[in-house]
Amino acid sequence: MNITIVGTGYVGLVTGTTLAELGNSVYCVDIDEKKVEGMKNGVVPIYEPNLEEMFLRNIQAERLFFTTNLKEALDKSEVIYLALPTPPGEDGSADLSYVLKVANDIGEMMTEYKVIVNKSTVPVGTADKVREVIASKTRIPFDVVSNPEFLREGFAVEDSMNPARVVVGASSEKAQEIMAKIYQPFTNTGVPIIFMDEKSSELTKYAANSFLAVKITFMNEIANYCEKVGADVDKVRLGMGSDDRIGHRFLFPGIGYGGSCFPKDVKALIKSGKQEDFNFQILEATENVNIAQKVILVSEIEKYFGGNIEGKTIAMWGLAFKANTDDIREASSLDNIALLLEKGAKIVAYDLVAENNVQKLLGDKIQYARNMYEALDNADALFIATEWPEFKNPNFELMAKRMNNKVIFDGRNIYPLEIPEQNGFYYKSIGRKTVL
Ligand code: NAD
Repeated sequence: MNITIVGTGYVGLVTGTTLAELGNSVYCVDIDEKKVEGMKNGVVPIYEPNLEEMFLRNIQAERLFFTTNLKEALDKSEVIYLALPTPPGEDGSADLSYVLKVANDIGEMMTEYKVIVNKSTVPVGTADKVREVIASKTRIPFDVVSNPEFLREGFAVEDSMNPARVVVGASSEKAQEIMAKIYQPFTNTGVPIIFMDEKSSELTKYAANSFLAVKITFMNEIANYCEKVGADVDKVRLGMGSDDRIGHRFLFPGIGYGGSCFPKDVKALIKSGKQEDFNFQILEATENVNIAQKVILVSEIEKYFGGNIEGKTIAMWGLAFKANTDDIREASSLDNIALLLEKGAKIVAYDLVAENNVQKLLGDKIQYARNMYEALDNADALFIATEWPEFKNPNFELMAKRMNNKVIFDGRNIYPLEIPEQNGFYYKSIGRKTVL
């Protein structure tokens, strides 16, 4: 099948590459000329494990193409996926301007039947809006389908090639058949495709992300309470998670959720609720708890240094919002950096792949180290902001030699308590006793 993908970010590029891998001819459209030029020359613009190999293979097989020309791609494809940004607007609601602009362009450019598949995360009712915009420009028949994306950054290729389920909101039978054909390689191997109306499909995505944000936040509150009463959140987590109604996943406490999806989707669902005079109380609480949770260790750092961290050097391991990605959108590291700088501390940061993105944002407000140990030179404390695997089994002797103090604030609970204990480190994590 010939497919166009509009927007080649984390979702669009991975979806496009995956669909090409399944044998389709895929035309990826982006307005970012530099990005498109780079992709034409085999440069993957994002870091995502296992993407590059598949990307290059499909370019070579002449199934994956890149262009800035929407019309050219549109003319070649029956199916058009939208994988466009839906960032929070000023009031927290999802900004639909990217989606509606492209809908308008499609309406103006299309010359025969198309299925427009929306993969962006959008509020309930957006399929109707897209339909209206296109219909205002053309009399040619078309269908609009909601097909929310559930991939996880860091596992995007794996998730796209082995989805747990495919959700399709489509009221037209013709569009349902086309979608079933696209996803037939998955359904053939037992992956369920769940058809529903567009509104339910749009809400499924927000409900899923919001539920996960609530689950993480619930555990963060349990962890904070553990500290008050002397319980150990690791034990509580194992005890709780063994109940298969609860499960072990998403029960790891830490310095809050970030990334391009959970914060914005929770916000957008709260806002959508308000527009219907509906208060998502649980989501409002989740958002507030998470904002505080992100910087919960800063007051611990201040406490450790007797209330004043002016002039202290803090080494920061990890900048990405989670491991295995270069994405720093809403990363907890950034909230901590801002607060620590405001209080007069100096930051020397190290991240395997996210450093460039932070440098673009913060420039020389902080220093950058070439490796995890260099970041520790003359550091008064280490702050762990991302759970990158390489931080999990470090050389503590070397760390002790390079640091001024043997002090770790761990926002991701990556060490069992006995490890810093055996190595003589002060170690403050989340929801567990402090190792002194
Ligand atoms: P992104 O910012 O990484 O990528 C968006 C791309 O769209 C950019 O390359 C941008 O240049 C391009 N673009 C903007 N306007 C354009 C236009 N008019 N024509 C062509 N290209 C244009 O975004 P993303 O993270 O891939 O997210 C896209 C959507 O998918 C969002 O709604 C997001 O909520 C949703 N989503 C994201 C994830 C994730 O993990 N990142 C997961 C599920 C769903």
